[in-house]
Amino acid sequence: MAENKPFKWEEMTAGAVVEHAKKDDIAILPLGAIEQHGPHCPNGDDSYNAIRMAELISRKTGVMILPCPMYGSHPYHHWKMPANIPLSYETHIALVTDIVRGAAVTGYNKFILLSAHGQVSSTIVAVHKLGLEGYFTLSLHWYDFLRDNKDVLDDWMWHADEAETSVALYLFPEFVDMSKATKGGGEALIDRKFIIAPGAPAKPGMMYHFEGTFARPEYKDPGLKTGVIGDATKATVEKGEKIVTRLVDHVADLIEDIRSRYKPGEKPPVM
Ligand SMILES: [Zn+2]
Repeated sequence: MAENKPFKWEEMTAGAVVEHAKKDDIAILPLGAIEQHGPHCPNGDDSYNAIRMAELISRKTGVMILPCPMYGSHPYHHWKMPANIPLSYETHIALVTDIVRGAAVTGYNKFILLSAHGQVSSTIVAVHKLGLEGYFTLSLHWYDFLRDNKDVLDDWMWHADEAETSVALYLFPEFVDMSKATKGGGEALIDRKFIIAPGAPAKPGMMYHFEGTFARPEYKDPGLKTGVIGDATKATVEKGEKIVTRLVDHVADLIEDIRSRYKPGEKPPVM
């Protein structure tokens, strides 16, 4: 792990943030959610994932981290699950657009939205609204950005499962109780062969996992009593470290590409 301190907006002074933006105008916005994560992981799991991944990226690259709003919007099938507090889609879109507009006033011109929660369908709307206003914004979801971790994990990324719990064990073990980790369920309304699982490579004849209402409402799904989809018992800290290190390296690579093309203060020609 890198030694440098992460640049965290909420812990810095106004003057320090303005000076930082003059030298480096790339900012990461960690996006998570408040959502149940089974009997073994905390309700802030996705937000802690996004925050701590962003910290490692900032340590490695020196980019600014914008404060994580903690709450997120949720796909339709998460609503009514106990402990979930979903923002409406319009609220999430407005939140993201307002944060980017506000940070731009301070001098930031390139934004990376780092998601650790299944709300990409509304985050992408924010990206396009901001594009119409001339903002350069990239949206990536950590597990979709990694695409394929089958060399480390037995399964794709589901929910509070092997993947997510491994990452939690690496990034915030203080909130994880592996003695309560279980195997979960979850049903699809059509054959899974038509659905690209989170993090899975796409093949012909498949839809991305946000391109349909493929799931039963979680609170009515008999296989989802524990709130886990996948197998959390397979999680280990070693698997989490491998995945997170991979993610940090890919995002650092993306940041290097942006830096090589646009100097600090220079806006990519979105408009
Ligand atoms: Zn999660």
